Amino acid sequence: MSRTDHSHTASEWAQLDLRHVWHPFTQHDEWVAQPMIVVDRAEGVELIDVEGRRYLDGTSSLWCNVHGHRHPKIDAAIRAQLDRVSHTTQLGLAGTTAIALAERLATLTGFPRVFYSDSGSTAVEVALKMAFQAQQQRGNTQRTRFAALTEAYHGDTIGSVSVGGIPLFHGIYKPMLFDAVRVPSPDRAGEGEAALLAEAEGIFREHGDTLAAFIFEPLVQGAAGIRTHSAAFLEALCRMARDAGALLVADEVATGFGRTGTMFAIDQTAVRPDILCVAKGLTGGYLPLAATLTTEAVFASFRGPYTEWKTLFHGHTYTGNPLACAAALASLDLFEDDCVIAGLAPKIEALRDAMAAVRHPAVIEVRQIGLMAAIVLAGGPTEARLAHRVTLACRDEGVIVRCLGDAVVIMPPLVMTPADLRRIVTAVETALGRTLPGPAQGTQANRAE
Ligand SMILES: *Cc1c(COP(=O)(O)O)cnc(C)c1O
Repeated sequence: MSRTDHSHTASEWAQLDLRHVWHPFTQHDEWVAQPMIVVDRAEGVELIDVEGRRYLDGTSSLWCNVHGHRHPKIDAAIRAQLDRVSHTTQLGLAGTTAIALAERLATLTGFPRVFYSDSGSTAVEVALKMAFQAQQQRGNTQRTRFAALTEAYHGDTIGSVSVGGIPLFHGIYKPMLFDAVRVPSPDRAGEGEAALLAEAEGIFREHGDTLAAFIFEPLVQGAAGIRTHSAAFLEALCRMARDAGALLVADEVATGFGRTGTMFAIDQTAVRPDILCVAKGLTGGYLPLAATLTTEAVFASFRGPYTEWKTLFHGHTYTGNPLACAAALASLDLFEDDCVIAGLAPKIEALRDAMAAVRHPAVIEVRQIGLMAAIVLAGGPTEARLAHRVTLACRDEGVIVRCLGDAVVIMPPLVMTPADLRRIVTAVETALGRTLPGPAQGTQANRAE
């Protein structure tokens, strides 16, 4: 068998997977017991498995695909970069493609300084170290802690997990983590925010002078199950944090590049952070690339003679990878050429209307901001794994979605049409009806007898 043999049968691929691949966020006792989709290729917004079956990519391949798969312009940009160089280091050398992207991101965001890494987690890790070190180098040596929201998710590395606050993901690692100051966030924009702000005020009063920075997912806490808060709520928290002398770190890893209806979520607010983290959508979902962007003021606190040791001693091997930077540049071209942001409104509305029309007694709530959405199901016992079973049943409808706890998450590529968005919601509704026949279906069945 050649090392790139694509002639295995579906079950041979599955057997090999079960033997060798350790999947992320996956209980393998469950993985071995459920049918496996082995993806071999993709076209536009469809994933294609080894047997040629097609599925709508309702997770944007984990929240990162923007313009669809195998977009001719991004493909061409990567191929052109292949003919120049695939990888060269940013340590001690500069590179044309990384420079071009940095300039482009600076113009797009207004942050003049761009530090590259490879994932959302590393973008956050870098931001935490930057904020900490900037404070130290400004003489604020007591500012060693971070404030973060309850139910926050900032990635899976130790620093980003430390500022994260999802007990299921983070509980076991507690002894390895540093302690963050926890600021309460609502489940849903507007809900009880005044009381939470009053509480936050006390927290910032008590801990404010120990804070290096306040980190937040602006407007929506994605991994917590699409929990939203209002712009006014975030603005008030950021004012408190600023007044306390903390730097502001916006984690736009999930929300960046159009996901919430604007290029960045902070565009819908008056919040102007000191540090901005981007990753998922940066390359259009093609290649691992992240960036931590900062103001000139943050950057300036790292300048000085070498022996003042103000260097940011951080950098990953594949930092600023040219293939990934080429994909990102092509993706940003597409945002402009295809007027992607301007075209989002009817899609967002189609998704909202489709979700509002879902009728099933197990649906207790729908959540949405832009093209980030969730259909939340009545909890039930953890073992029942209702939302998980619904996502598996969606596959029979030709739709891939995932759940977070009781929330079935819908996170389509921005390029998806209103018709495809409706198809996803219909698939969830059908799958739910088959997984948990509600009274309506029950009555109908009785009547038929
Ligand atoms: C996904 C995510 C991360 C982590 O990104 P990875 O690329 O998975 O490391 C960090 N922050 C937020 C808000 C995310 O949604």
